[in-house]
Formats: sequence, structure tokens, C-alpha cells
Amino acid sequence: MKAVVLVGVGDVQVLDVPDPVITAPGDAVVRVTATAICGADLFPYHGYTPGFENGTILGHEYVGVVEAVGANVRNVAVGDRVVCTSTTSCGRCPHCMAGRPSQCLDRSLFGYSGVYPRLDGGQAERVRVPSADRCLRRIPAGVSDDAAVFVGDILPTGYGAVVRSDLALGDVAVIVGCGPVGLMALLVARRLARTVIAVDGIAERRALAASLGAHAVAPDAALAAIADATGGLGADAVIEAAGSAGALTAALTYVRGRGTVSVVGAHFEPDYPLNNGLMFEREITLRFTIGNPFGDRDRLLGMVAAGELDPTPVATHHIPLADAAEAYRMFDAREATKIILVP
Ligand SMILES: [Zn+2]
Ligand SMILES: [Zn+2]
Repeated sequence: MKAVVLVGVGDVQVLDVPDPVITAPGDAVVRVTATAICGADLFPYHGYTPGFENGTILGHEYVGVVEAVGANVRNVAVGDRVVCTSTTSCGRCPHCMAGRPSQCLDRSLFGYSGVYPRLDGGQAERVRVPSADRCLRRIPAGVSDDAAVFVGDILPTGYGAVVRSDLALGDVAVIVGCGPVGLMALLVARRLARTVIAVDGIAERRALAASLGAHAVAPDAALAAIADATGGLGADAVIEAAGSAGALTAALTYVRGRGTVSVVGAHFEPDYPLNNGLMFEREITLRFTIGNPFGDRDRLLGMVAAGELDPTPVATHHIPLADAAEAYRMFDAREATKIILVP
């Protein structure tokens, strides 16, 4: 089969590799029909992932059709259309038992190696899915691949960021960073907030955020827009979806006293200079969130199926899987907000 392989730093190639097979009774093999490139895929692409093994098949956002199941698989069957969670979870460790599968002690991230045990990903014609009963969910009839592919990762991530921002009905929310996760958070936040202010330096992303219902502003206009919307108090909830130290610092200046900054951008700085004086004096709550597709996919699939939530405008580009190298270049250069690869 064809698969998108990270051959070396910055070197993505579509290679012929052996078809995956069932290796454990809980496995399934899925024929992939759509798979998205995620910002998290760019970390190994740039060589930022310690221990990443060259040769790993990339991709943790995908939907497809079940082609084979192991003897113990009960929740899905051959022929089902399914969406997969971005990570695995074992269902048996103390975190899983307590309902915290994103902290599973045995988790792998599809398409990753090094920081987690290697698990080949879904940017391929087929993928082996361990713990298939937990990772796979049937896609309701009427929900497109384009919509469902977001339910495995970035839609639950954006949703989790909003939930953990304590956003309440009628509040003013700020989204810092209008990449795909920020836009998912926007789709959820606008259902509660009286105003969602979206901050991004890229005009195309601001335009997309505005089309989804936000008041979109460039970073240098953010403080004035927030002051305008809140009588100078600051935002009730700020979602930081950019994943940079500068974005986090800005987010902490956007929030009102006793407000919450909910961070969903990926951070790896070990020595961020948190202003404890500001945090204390203004009683700011700061939370980090990975997202929980296991816990939240059903409510989100249900909302998509009911027509209450439509993430598909975020899928700005569809590119054949065979052209993945060019797709990665475009995505890395921010020439595309979100790319769906089609095998
Ligand atoms: Zn992702
Ligand atoms: Zn576990």
C-alpha cells in the first residue's frame, strides 16, 4: 500500500509499504478514506520530537472503513465507517479507569514514535488500530468524512479548551490563534459567548474566523477590541490555541481578574517566565488541555449529525495522498489552514 512516511527531518515521502495486518485480538484494520495533517505532525517533520524513528508512517486524524477485525473486537464490524481517536488508551490503567484516557499510562499517538511507543499512523491507504473497541467509533449516517475526521482530535480538543475555560452564557471569549484547533474552539465558544474575539496575525485565518462568527482582529488590535467589548475589564475566558510563549503572555494580558486562560496550543518551553505577581493580584486561573476524544466524541458526533455544529469550513484544502510531500510543505508554510489527504 501507499503510506506517508517521514524518511528524515523535513523529508516526507509517499512510499510502498507492506499492508498492515491484525496482530492482536483487539486490533482492526481500517481502509482510510480521509486523513488530515495536524500541527502536531510538524514537530517530527522539523526534528523536534526526541527519539522519533525515521520510517514511521505519519498521521493521527483519519476516518475510513473497517476491513478486518481481531477475534475480540465487538463494537465495530467489517464494513463500518469509523473515526479513530488520535491516541490509544488501554482502558485498564488507573487514569483510564478514572475517566482520564488522555493521561493513559500506556498511550500511543498514531503516527508517532519516540515520546510514545511507535504506532504507525493513518496517512496511508490502510492502518492497524490497536484497542479498536476503544479507539474506533461508527460514524452516523449523513455525517461526511470531512466532518467526522475532526471528531478524532481537533474538535474534541477545541471543545475541551472551551469547557476548561469556564466560559459561561453571555461571556466575552477570546481565541488566540486561528489555526484549526482555535477555529474548532471558536465554533464551540460562539454557542455560549455574547462575543468571540479571534486574534491572529494571518489575514486568511482572520477571514475564516470572521466567517465562522468571530470578531477577528490582528494581534496589535486585540487589547483595544477586548477593552471595547468588556468595558475595559478584560475577557471572561481566553483560549490560547497558538502554542507559543508570546501567545501565552498575550493571553494573560487579555483576561479579566478572576478569569481563566485555557491553553490548548502545544507547549514545550521548560522555563516560561510566568508573572506570578500578575497571576496572584488578578487571581487568574491557568489550565492546559490536550483534549479527550474518548469522552467527548459522541456528543460532538451527535451535534454534527443534528446539523448543530459544522466543522467542515475549516478543511480548506483537499490533496491526493500521493502529493503528501507538497501538502506538508504548504501546511508548514501556512499556505493552507487545514489539509485533508485523500487516498
Ligand atoms: Zn492532531
Ligand atoms: Zn490507560
